Parts: sequence; C-alpha cells; structure tokens
Amino acid sequence: MAEFDLIERIRARVAARADVRLGIGDDAALLAPPPGHELAFAADTLNAGIHFPPHTDPVAIGWKALAVNLSDLAAMGARPAWCSLSLSLPEADAGWLDGFLDGFFELAGLHELALVGGDTTRGPLSLAVSVIGLVEAGSALQRAHARAGDEVWVSGHLGDAAAALAQWQAGGPVMPELRTRLERPQPRIALGRALRGLAHACIDLSDGLVADLGHICRASGLGARIEVEALPCSPALAELAVDAGQRLAWQVAGGDDYELCFSAPPQSRPALEALSRDLGLALSCIGAMVPGSGVQLLREGRPWQAPRRGFEHFTGA
Ligand code: ADP
Ligand code: MG
Repeated sequence: MAEFDLIERIRARVAARADVRLGIGDDAALLAPPPGHELAFAADTLNAGIHFPPHTDPVAIGWKALAVNLSDLAAMGARPAWCSLSLSLPEADAGWLDGFLDGFFELAGLHELALVGGDTTRGPLSLAVSVIGLVEAGSALQRAHARAGDEVWVSGHLGDAAAALAQWQAGGPVMPELRTRLERPQPRIALGRALRGLAHACIDLSDGLVADLGHICRASGLGARIEVEALPCSPALAELAVDAGQRLAWQVAGGDDYELCFSAPPQSRPALEALSRDLGLALSCIGAMVPGSGVQLLREGRPWQAPRRGFEHFTGA
C-alpha cells in the first residue's frame, strides 16, 4: 500500500463534526471554535519499545495513544474537539493499521472527537497524537492554582497499571482486571469538566502520584502531605498476594494510572461526594496542600519513603 492508500483508509473512518470546516485532504484543516472559548492543546507520543512492547495488540495501542492525550484535556477541564495523528510505520501493513484505528476511533467516538489531519511516514513504529479541546474562557484547571489548606483528591484507583506491568515483566499471567487498566485507561473527561469551579489545581496521573502531585506542588509553591492508607485500592489489586509495601509503592510511584489528582477547598467536599455518586467514580481525599515544598508521605502518622520515583525518560529512572 502507498502512503495515499493509508491516508484514505484513515479518512474513510472519520466522523463528521459541524465545527470542522475542512478536514483531512488539504494542506491544513480549518476549524471553527465557538466564541467565548479557549483552545486547550496537548500532544503525546507513544514509541514502540519505550511506551509499549513492540508486539502489543494494535487495538490496545490505538486506544492508548489517544487516551493519554485525552487525559491531558481532562486535567484542564476541557471538552475534546479535534485531533491529529502522525504515524511512523515500519511497513504499510493494512491489517495492523485497521486494528490500530479500531482502538483509536472507538475512544474518539465516545468523546465526539474528530480526526482532522496528521502525517504518515515510514520509520520505527511511533504514534504521535495531538488533541485540541474547548474550555470556557478563564475556567481551565491549572497546576499552579492550589492553595494551602486545600484537600488533595484522586479519582478511581491507583496502582493497577503498575501491578499489571510488573506481572507482565515477571513473565507470568497478568490479571485481566489489571491488564485492562494498563491497556485501556479511561480519560476522566466528565470529571475534569465538573471540577471547574470545585477544584483549584488538577493534573492527570501519568508518571505516578508522587511525581505528578510534585508538579502541582512546584507550580503552586506549596507542599503536600499524603496519608498512604487513604490511597484508593481496587479489589483486583487488594487480592494480589504481595506485601503491603510493594502495593503502596505501585500506588504512590507506579505510572500509567491516568486518574485525576486535584486540590479543592474543604467546602467543595459535599459537591465532590455528590459528583462521585453521579459519575459512578470513586473520589478519595488522600491528604492536604500545606506550606513548604515537596510531597510528604505518611504511613500510620510517620514519614514513609516510597521505594522508587515515577518514570523519567532521560535519566531512565
Ligand atoms: P502535505 O504533503 O501537504 O503535508 P500529506 O500528503 O502529508 O500532505 O497529507 C495529506 C492530507 O492527509 C493532509 O490533510 C494530512 O493532514 C492528512 N493526513 C496525512 N496523514 C494522516 C494521518 N496519519 N492521519 C490523519 N490525517 C492524515
Ligand atoms: Mg505532510
């Protein structure tokens, strides 16, 4: 297949959106943002061998390549609108591409996201996605807006993806519930939208709680104190026969959770509890923003050291 045929295969599956005046096929797309909105832009790349093992199911890669980007929009409180897809493929394999597009478009369809352009080249397998979301002017959630006295919350459960990765790396069977969390993260778009006005600062958890909450701390000029007993644990993770220290390590430092971590004033608590019921999504208060710097972990009231930090690309740690 030639480059043109690959692009045509992609274009044929794109859903229409009224605000896409000109989509795939010209030198650039033409998009019509509604008045009174800001555009939230984010880009994230997945590389074979770095972000996923080379022979991962293409459907899972397609879902995740988009999910990690939508998670960034969720953390800003933005509504997904448009995206681009730059593919670097070792060969023009229609079967692989179709699988990839199955995963990609399944998730895009859930959020009425339109693919409006991209690039297709030959090279090592790499998927570079960018997304644009819409957010009412002035209302986006930002890392720098935490205040001392805010409570710190997280959505869903922490540590499942890291546990799945550890099981996979150990060469044994991977628990299906954990594997789903690693391969099919759910971007928390509805939560991010609802947090505008309730939360002060927000971030999505891609590199682990300590690393990512650390970004809120630095940007806001504050510290955070976290009670590790309060970290939400899924039934599947609780069932694993590992010691509590290992489980906590996955929960505080494991990456790939794609939950939201946010700080909110104590008076938001009743609204957050109601929101959790409405969304059918656990929201757990795990600590507080405090004067100072850095993330301090407490276990049974005593300082506790996490065994390892979140993943950092260039030091490889
Ligand atoms: P140009 O040479 O002008 O950059 P291309 O031949 O690269 O154009 O792309 C032709 C059209 O197809 C453009 O509208 C581009 O955005 C779109 N396109 C190319 N690759 C992809 C892709 N992987 N996904 C979505 N759209 C793509
Ligand atoms: Mg091009």
